[in-house]
Amino acid sequence: MRLVRRPAKGVVVERDAAAGVRLEDGTVVRADRVLLAAGPWSDDLEGLPAGTVPSVRPVKGQVIRLRTRVPFLRRCTRGLVKGSPVYLVPRADDGEIVLGATQEELGFDRRVTAGGLWELLRDARELFPGVTELEFAEVTAGLRPGSPDNAPVLGHSALPGLVLGTGHFRHGVLLAPVSADVLSALLLDGPVPEVARPFSPDRFSPERISEVNR
Ligand SMILES: Cc1cc2nc3c(=O)[nH]c(=O)nc-3n(C[C@H](O)[C@H](O)[C@H](O)COP(=O)(O)OP(=O)(O)OC[C@H]3O[C@@H](n4cnc5c(N)ncnc54)[C@H](O)[C@@H]3O)c2cc1C
Repeated sequence: MRLVRRPAKGVVVERDAAAGVRLEDGTVVRADRVLLAAGPWSDDLEGLPAGTVPSVRPVKGQVIRLRTRVPFLRRCTRGLVKGSPVYLVPRADDGEIVLGATQEELGFDRRVTAGGLWELLRDARELFPGVTELEFAEVTAGLRPGSPDNAPVLGHSALPGLVLGTGHFRHGVLLAPVSADVLSALLLDGPVPEVARPFSPDRFSPERISEVNR
């Protein structure tokens, strides 16, 4: 087995099946199974027949890291402030507290904004008035991969040989072990695990949608 750590430009399709991956410099890495797990970029790869990958959109999230030298919070705490979810996660080891997260539909925008930080701090202070006294450590913005129904897309695509593992949206870390089990079963040609059936890519096929609407 050869390990290649380079961006893929597209999927190679031969005789109506996935046959490998084409890299940016034109090199082809041949494979009889291709796993497409490119997060919010999952529907950007070239070479795939239209409709093979459901649309996957980026959903921006900003998080703030705060620091405390005195005990402030022991448990992960979630709340809703005027309808907006906010959470604080104390890190066990270093007195850091993670405060998150915004949910913004702004395409591939990863800028940290004053408004995002203000919203997070405003809502967190409703739950914990002392939060704005903590030391500021860092702020970051990331992109979550959101499918049309915000649920994971896990399973065989309509293109033989192409398996999809994307759309994990807000829960990709939490779901990593179960998704890895499902995807390895599919790549090894095992039966589709029961737990993955509701997340099959074919729920977005035009035929399934008209079936459901009938
Ligand atoms: C602020 C924030 C907070 C979050 N909090 C939580 C949380 O508390 N719990 C939780 O479970 N989840 C959380 N998530 C969601 C979680 O991060 C995502 O669901 C998860 O990262 C999705 O994993 P993924 O591997 O499918 O996609 P990604 O993490 O997006 O990874 C996709 C990878 O594919 C690579 N790639 C893209 N295109 C190509 C290409 N052409 N060739 C090769 N590689 C390519 C990218 O570089 C990237 O490394 C949070 C997300 C954000 C933004």
